This record gives sequence, C-alpha cells and structure tokens, in this order.
Amino acid sequence: MAGGWTRDGGVQDQIDASVEDAVKLVRSRLPDGEGLSHCEECETVIPDARRKAIPGVRLCISCQSKLEKRQTAPTGYNRRGSKDSQLR
Ligand SMILES: [Zn+2]
Repeated sequence: MAGGWTRDGGVQDQIDASVEDAVKLVRSRLPDGEGLSHCEECETVIPDARRKAIPGVRLCISCQSKLEKRQTAPTGYNRRGSKDSQLR
C-alpha cells in the first residue's frame, strides 16, 4: 500500500499560525523601540495614552485583547482541570 503517510496540512497550518501569534504577542509585550502610531493588525490609530503606557506598543487595544484571548483560551481550557481532579 502506498501513501501510508498522511500529511495533515491543516494541523501544520494551525501550528504555524499559533507560533506566529505567539511571536506577535511576545513582541507586543516587549518594549521594542518606538511604538507604532497605528495598529499593526488593523491600522487603527493607537491613542497616545496607550503608547505612553506601553512602550513599543504595536497593536490597538482590541487586537491586543483578541490576540491574548487566542493565546490563553486553549491552555486555560486544558489547565482548568476539573475533570482531572475528579479522577483522583
Ligand atoms: Zn488593531
């Protein structure tokens, strides 16, 4: 039988996307030179107050929180662990 290997491109795409998100999230938190005046994602103007509060900010508030939700949702779900603790 040929084709014993199933290449699941979808999974790889998901991994790539989450790595990219993780890099963006880390970058968005690190003071990395000048902040942007416009959001890297959606090009919304980033308010001065936000740029002062977060040196090197690159995302607007809504993109930042979307990114953080995407990052924390899967881990938060796994770590909630209510089922695991019931097994013990
Ligand atoms: Zn944005």
